[in-house]
Amino acid sequence: MLKGVAVSPGVVVGRVYKVESILHATEPVTLAAPELVAPELERFDLALTRAGLELESMIQKVESQIGREEADIFRSHLGMVRDPSLRQKVYSLVQSQRVTAMTALQQVMMQYISRFEHFEQQDYFRERMADLRDVFGRIAADLQGLEQQKDPDELPDYGPDPIVIVAHEILPSQSMSLGDQPLGGIVTEIGGGTSHASILSRSRGIPAVTGLPTVSTDVANGDLIIVDGNEGIVLLHPDPETAAAYRKKQREFFDIKHRLVENRDLPAVSSDGTPVELLANINSVSDAETANHTGAAGVGLLRTEYLFLTHPDVPDEEEQYRYYREIVLAMKGKPITIRTLDVGGDKSVPYLGRRVEANPFMGWRSIRLAFEHPRLYETQIRAILRAGVHGRVAMLFPMVTTLEELRFLNRMVDHCKTALTNEGLEFGREVRTGVMIEVPAAAICIDSILRETQFISIGSNDLIQYLTAADRDNSKVSHLCEPLSPAVIRVLMMILDACKRSGMPVTLCGEMAAQPRSFLVLFGLGLRKFSMSPAFVPAIKSLLAHVSTAEAERFAHHVLQLKTSEEIRHYLSDRLHEVSADLEKFDIMA
Ligand code: PEP
Ligand code: MG
Repeated sequence: MLKGVAVSPGVVVGRVYKVESILHATEPVTLAAPELVAPELERFDLALTRAGLELESMIQKVESQIGREEADIFRSHLGMVRDPSLRQKVYSLVQSQRVTAMTALQQVMMQYISRFEHFEQQDYFRERMADLRDVFGRIAADLQGLEQQKDPDELPDYGPDPIVIVAHEILPSQSMSLGDQPLGGIVTEIGGGTSHASILSRSRGIPAVTGLPTVSTDVANGDLIIVDGNEGIVLLHPDPETAAAYRKKQREFFDIKHRLVENRDLPAVSSDGTPVELLANINSVSDAETANHTGAAGVGLLRTEYLFLTHPDVPDEEEQYRYYREIVLAMKGKPITIRTLDVGGDKSVPYLGRRVEANPFMGWRSIRLAFEHPRLYETQIRAILRAGVHGRVAMLFPMVTTLEELRFLNRMVDHCKTALTNEGLEFGREVRTGVMIEVPAAAICIDSILRETQFISIGSNDLIQYLTAADRDNSKVSHLCEPLSPAVIRVLMMILDACKRSGMPVTLCGEMAAQPRSFLVLFGLGLRKFSMSPAFVPAIKSLLAHVSTAEAERFAHHVLQLKTSEEIRHYLSDRLHEVSADLEKFDIMA
């Protein structure tokens, strides 16, 4: 039994499928027969060609939208992709050792890394490493893409048991390509509750555990594995009795889940009739469809960075406009909040320049990029405004820290509107703009922010990590990065009170919105708009129907008197159990 960090609730008994990653060497994978060598080399050549073409287009776009210096990085990457010695090294490994091109690529990457290790300068080494990861990652992504095209149902068939993905980590590109696969669970070695793997698993509503440093070497493809996403436990090679006991839990969880979806057309109201808006956090068009299926009242957060992270180069205004329009139309008239690009931190896009930062979460991320790259932001703002013609669109700025930043962004929006008007392009004149409160500085000065914006969205994932100085993706400190802690609850109360006093619409879109115990407190503190992974909407709607406003207020009032997270968690666990024992299965109890 391995104990990790629970990131997405539910239980599954499944079969291991290890996702290979170029960034993390696993055992060599060999080709089954000598005849496979030639097609493998062909596939590798095709991947090289595609990576080269992507880079050419990237150079052109980065140069026009961002700058010449940033484009130079990709010129050097193109040089590496077209370097004959790279091709020759991979060829010779595939031919002599009959390994896959992916394995050969991994081995060549290791050779390059060991060469760079001789350099004294740490910074130089780190930057070259980042370039290597980008270049090899790009070729590998093409190889994987080709693999998928070759066989669209490429997940193996292990019989009736669902597939459980086991990986070192899940990269954004993988989380998108796995997004449409029938998965039963996800287990990763690194990453915290809000990493890509966690967001993917929660948006799919499948159990997931992270923070298990050796798991991918402890298992082989096809092994039986149990994932308990409530307790953060993974059991390897379970005996038949244990597997049977967990299969029973799995059936119970999925039965409840399927039953709950039937509430999709019911209104979200508390037992005494207080209405609440349950919105969805989405990353893609297929998530929008899930949001409709589960009965979300709209989209409270569209994370646009997934478009940028999975796009081979910088998406231009037309591409962005078409993408946003597709999502707006998929939501069929329901409101949708589009967040501007929130990259940096844990999500880096190479075309914004290579900067190795010691503290990326506290560094050059999110709207902080807008000052240096106004064109990149204007392009996005224009695309969002234009998509506003097709539905009820709002625009949300993440990571705002100061009022100066907000003013800069507001001016940018005005400027874009004037430009669109002058160009005779249609845009949504009703598109409202809002601020995410996710930096403590902004939370403390909320009063001044409220005067210059139209709505607030609380980004509790970041707010909690900054408030507690505990990295949200580091499983070692996940006990500190805790929503149910006295400091977090007090700050949330302060934000909600300020919004209430000024009549400002406020949503909370962090992961805690969908955690039953946290939901009880937030509802009790007066929050009426919640945005969450669409898979959790039915369970939260059901929880709401089981609780009255006065009861929730009483819970929140009591929680405010408690001094430790442990007391808060225990108190709320007891209350949740009284309200609905079934819905405990949707909380992360560890
Ligand atoms: C948050 O920080 O709470 C949030 C919703 O945004 P993200 O998880 O994308 O940082
Ligand atoms: Mg955030």
